[in-house]
Amino acid sequence: ISRLDLDDILGTINEEVRQRFGENRGEVADYIPALADVPRDRFGMALALLDGTVHEVGNARERFSIQSVSKVYTLTLALEAIGDALWKRVDREPSGDPFNSLIQLEHEKGIPRNPFMNAGAIVTADVVLSNYGDAEATLLEFMRARSGNPEVGADVELAKSERESGHRNVALANFIRSYGNLHNDVQDVLDFYFLQCSLRMDCVDLARSMQYLADGGRCGPSGQQVTSAEGATRINAMMMTAGTYDAAGDFAFHVGLPAKSGVSGAIVAVVPHVMGLCVWSPALDRKGNSLLGGYALHRFTRMTGLSVF
Ligand code: GLN
Repeated sequence: ISRLDLDDILGTINEEVRQRFGENRGEVADYIPALADVPRDRFGMALALLDGTVHEVGNARERFSIQSVSKVYTLTLALEAIGDALWKRVDREPSGDPFNSLIQLEHEKGIPRNPFMNAGAIVTADVVLSNYGDAEATLLEFMRARSGNPEVGADVELAKSERESGHRNVALANFIRSYGNLHNDVQDVLDFYFLQCSLRMDCVDLARSMQYLADGGRCGPSGQQVTSAEGATRINAMMMTAGTYDAAGDFAFHVGLPAKSGVSGAIVAVVPHVMGLCVWSPALDRKGNSLLGGYALHRFTRMTGLSVF
């Protein structure tokens, strides 16, 4: 890593990506105004090395809602609370189906395929609600400590519009509840899920918030041991196999890093033992992953040789 000029590499990626904006591919998520209104020409990328050094380029300090990236952190909280008992309520297999799919839930009797599909994240949210006194405050404190940014907060308006348009999530939650795999009030679980999606952070915050997964569970910004080394290994494995939904195979092929995407166009990734990363660009591909974000990560591992493979 010391032989690489990371600023130079980020500069090259930034230029390549900006040339690609001209091709005008991909669509910004438009199911709520807060996502539809984000200019599609944004691109930011940040790297947080284990020694605390940050490298960044483009719109790396512009905040966005973290959406499904939050599922990594609620999974961490749920595993810390109940350990392997979580796997009785959520499976850990890749799905090959879209992130908001209902299709496997009936066959699997309300056990979601993995914690990164919406169904699995809703069960994970239920576990967090059951096991932490004030789940909202716990998550906020967790994100502020992971990122080292005390200003991380929820976007209450955005959470409200998620709630008003989240009919699919409401259906998923009720369906899971019908099998007895939600223990809290359905509305409370959904409120918490929409809140976690609405947290506003930037690329630098999120790159830092991935450091614990790169460093055997130790969080650089806070110095805390967030999870065991084994816990970090397992969460990375989940990200590799399911973090980008039905594109996880393609991501392993082209990028080769544990990664988690969100519908706002954010993708976080981990280079184990080296760094946490975040890339953000709002236009999405058909599978709901940032189009240019995926391209940038592909170029990054190509140029640095840092794919885990
Ligand atoms: N808020 C989004 C939803 O629940 C999160 C999904 C995502 O980021 N892929 O539909």
